[in-house]
Amino acid sequence: MSECVFCRIVNGELPAEKIFENEKYLVFSDVNPQAPVHYLVIPKEHITDLMAVKNPAMLGEIFSIVQDVAKKEGLEQKGFRVVNNCGDEGGQTVDHLHFHILGGRFMEWPPG
Ligand code: AMP
Ligand code: ZN
Repeated sequence: MSECVFCRIVNGELPAEKIFENEKYLVFSDVNPQAPVHYLVIPKEHITDLMAVKNPAMLGEIFSIVQDVAKKEGLEQKGFRVVNNCGDEGGQTVDHLHFHILGGRFMEWPPG
């Protein structure tokens, strides 16, 4: 059994509210939403963080999925935020690469 919570979701060992899935990527609802809309986009492959990405094309594929989700979930018109927390000081708590998609409310700046 994997120690990684997102690998466990990928493997079906943990439940998740999945909204998109293909061979390489998965999008599901964040269990502790910080906005009315809060999804996580992850590669199915275990990659610890942004700095561990070996194939930069993966980032293009992930952002293409972000565009699709934004369109499908009606975020395109009002706007939304994409967040990647990288490493300890970046606020990363799950060591499996993920991008947050947040929407449905006005986003403040700077983030905390
Ligand atoms: P980060 O702080 O950027 O590493 O974000 C990790 C995110 O994963 C947090 O927003 C958590 O709420 C979310 N999270 C942790 N465990 C789960 C889970 N089992 N299902 C869905 N989201 C989760
Ligand atoms: Zn993992």
